[in-house]
Amino acid sequence: MRVTWTGAAHLSFRLDPEDEITGRASDEYPIKLAINSCSIRGVPEDAHPDLYAVAAWTVVAPWTRRRVTFDRAISAELAEALHAGWGVEAGPVGAERRRPGSRLAISYSGGADSVAAATMYPEAPFVHFRRVAHPRVPNRWPHYRSDVLAKLAAQTGRELTVVESDLEYTLAEPRPGYPEHHAVAAGALLLADALDIGGLGFGYEMGSRWLGGGRYLWRYTPDNPMWAPHGRWGRLFAAAGVHIVLPVGGVSEATTMRLALGSPLREQVRWCLRGVDGPCRNCGKCLYKELIQAAVERRPLNTPMKPEHPAVKKYLKKPPYGGQEMIQYGLARVPGIENTVFAPALDYFDVSEETTRWLDHCYPPALEEIPEPWRAQAAAFIEANVGLMTESEVRQVETWGSGATA
Ligand SMILES: [Zn+2]
Repeated sequence: MRVTWTGAAHLSFRLDPEDEITGRASDEYPIKLAINSCSIRGVPEDAHPDLYAVAAWTVVAPWTRRRVTFDRAISAELAEALHAGWGVEAGPVGAERRRPGSRLAISYSGGADSVAAATMYPEAPFVHFRRVAHPRVPNRWPHYRSDVLAKLAAQTGRELTVVESDLEYTLAEPRPGYPEHHAVAAGALLLADALDIGGLGFGYEMGSRWLGGGRYLWRYTPDNPMWAPHGRWGRLFAAAGVHIVLPVGGVSEATTMRLALGSPLREQVRWCLRGVDGPCRNCGKCLYKELIQAAVERRPLNTPMKPEHPAVKKYLKKPPYGGQEMIQYGLARVPGIENTVFAPALDYFDVSEETTRWLDHCYPPALEEIPEPWRAQAAAFIEANVGLMTESEVRQVETWGSGATA
């Protein structure tokens, strides 16, 4: 793989003979290349070469097999992190490594998880990734209202940098999206010198960090390759002086929902990518989050969605589901759930408030993973607003997916 940056931040890349146009992201998901160029706007003209290298790697990693050649020399430490993590030869080598900045920034999406993470650090600046059209790839997902989400981010009143990028269109299949989950940070990486960033906070919660949620495994994953500090991405970001920080990595989506709805940013919370004046109430994300919100607020489910809707049909099938721990939490707590579209899923689980109570508390190892400069603040917030898991609750996390949990 050969990587070239031109102008402020236009990335183009050329595959080597051994590279393949259908690659695999770190979560093993197969993805197909659509186009070999993209732009990132809203970033400075210059940054440390390791920041350019990591930003490029978040895009090109899935398609790279044996080597990656950057257009400017990187540090030996960064080359080593690429070799240790992916087995690729990276170069040329010749730069001094970047010293971490002193500030934590939040990679802010506006969803409940990201709002909860932001609430823990009221002084942290936001970097918001906004999808824009690619000049040479047709937009097959026109209902994604990234303009609405950017506007809500601006209404938070926080220090904000909006990065506009078409990098998601480098993906032909399954749909436009981040080649690696970490590509959402490409702009934040290029801003790291200008904003003095030493840590980047993401809204990934316990399901994503520890329970193998999302689109890969449904089991306890202490060595999660994407988000563990000792995983390959954690080590790569750290080598570039931008530590991955998961402020809400130890709590469930029920807890991030509760924290977000109780935060000063409550009016700006938006997980739906489609709605304009509010959530659309008619997409899979809205249904899933409505279940969680109804459980948190102890009220009946309120959705116009019918059993025929494809997003509803998912729950007529056998588990596992994405975010299954939250489905169980909702089934156990939403009054009258047996009269809703989720009723069929009740047959698959034997749930109760007692067996889902662990999802109201924080998994302590998640706090230990937060780098030292930002740990005490997170721990104090968790102590005041959430509380730590008991030993038996910790066991629920650590046996997740083994058949030992409810
Ligand atoms: Zn929606």
